[in-house]
Amino acid sequence: MTIETNVNHPFHDEDGDTLREECGVFGAINARDATALTALGLHALQHRGQEAAGIVSYDGAEFYVRRGLGHVAENFGAGDAIAELPGSMAAGHVRYSTTGGSGLRNIQPLYAELATGGFAIAHNGNISNAMHLRADLVRKGAIFQSTSDTEVIVHLVATSRYPTLLDRFVDALRLVEGAYALICMTPKGMIACRDPLGIRPLVMGRVGDAVVFASETVALDIIGADFEREVEPGELIEVDFDGKTKSHRPFGNRGSRPCIFEHVYFSRPDSISAGRSVYSVRKAIGEQLAIESPADVDLVIPVPDSGVPAAIGYAQQSGKPFELGIIRSHYVGRTFIQPSDGARSSSVSRKHNANRALVEGKRIVLIDDSIVRGTTSLKIVQMMRDAGATEVHMRIASPPTMHSCFYGVDTPERSKLLAARMEVEAMREFIQADSLAFVSIDGLYRAVGEEERKPKCPQYCDACFTGDYPTKLTDLEERTEPDQMSLLQEKVA
Ligand code: SF4
Repeated sequence: MTIETNVNHPFHDEDGDTLREECGVFGAINARDATALTALGLHALQHRGQEAAGIVSYDGAEFYVRRGLGHVAENFGAGDAIAELPGSMAAGHVRYSTTGGSGLRNIQPLYAELATGGFAIAHNGNISNAMHLRADLVRKGAIFQSTSDTEVIVHLVATSRYPTLLDRFVDALRLVEGAYALICMTPKGMIACRDPLGIRPLVMGRVGDAVVFASETVALDIIGADFEREVEPGELIEVDFDGKTKSHRPFGNRGSRPCIFEHVYFSRPDSISAGRSVYSVRKAIGEQLAIESPADVDLVIPVPDSGVPAAIGYAQQSGKPFELGIIRSHYVGRTFIQPSDGARSSSVSRKHNANRALVEGKRIVLIDDSIVRGTTSLKIVQMMRDAGATEVHMRIASPPTMHSCFYGVDTPERSKLLAARMEVEAMREFIQADSLAFVSIDGLYRAVGEEERKPKCPQYCDACFTGDYPTKLTDLEERTEPDQMSLLQEKVA
């Protein structure tokens, strides 16, 4: 096994007022250029994690590992990096970390030598009983190399008493709670698998003779692969080195609860998620917003970039003109040197600038995807007033984000979420808008093609809006102080 690392790229989070997907995964097998396909696929998934990237390949005899901090292009843009990872099978990962923290040892795919041979694993999601399982494993003598929740799966596979890798893997996953889309590599081939509720996405495609897996369909598009289907919730797909696939359903059918926030924010608009165009759903959310919360304004203005499709929908439904009243710079460097005098600016004003000539003297409605802490919304509203807007209304293309995510999305703790602390009117005052409204939960469900949310068996995971978590949260329950727990229970009830 060869391990290469790149440690040159410290990551600086500048505003912290957003939700971040923590990971994207990609895998290719029976491919002449598996690593190049994987690097390209990861590049298309870069929006899901910008802190670190890694690829593991297998050439039939040896596994090769390269992982580094920074973007995919920085780690795998050069031909020699690809050449260091030979073989017809490769899997990769892009990461934005919170669980387990940053640092080289947590960059995925993880790799371990087991009794059954080499084992590499790339994970998108979060295991909600990882700390509980880890403590148990450590008590039994396990020595962990990282603080990543994913390593728990590696140890569970390693210590399972079943003879075959597949049986050990299933045995391990039976103990795991939470959300996972996994791509694993063994000397026998690739295993792709999704948690029993399908909370995190995973799709399968083919390009030539190669079988590929990815977090989003956009990664298939970029390599010219045909979309075959989604990996079903709870499904485990084995692929051998001839590209033959075998599907297993070891967990039975427990229904389906994919993350609804993939539609609102995380997925790229050119992806298809849960069978629906993300772009079309975002437009439909904007239409719902316009129906539920009209605004008497001159212009509809998106907060770029993720507010754009919803703003188009809002404008088309309301008959008001859609205009680009905020221009986003795409060249804000992560290592920008802050001026020390009065010219020092917040990250939002370096990223966004008001289109003064357009908004001056106008009544506007801003369309954004979500409000997390509220600090960015406050700055943007202020920026539009400074540019001469006479009224600034805000419409949000998701219900209020009142709860933390424990399934692989970086959300602030609950006490930092504006909607967990305030009613809508108090939030409006906080962000200093003339009016504020959120799409309703049923409006959101209508936008994804459902008639309404079924309260007894919701069709999606929507826990960050409703507090209705679809799995047990063992680690949270075991570590939460009684007063925090009552807050959680009050919302889960
Ligand atoms: Fe998605 Fe929210 Fe559920 Fe997390 S809690 S998986 S962000 S819907």
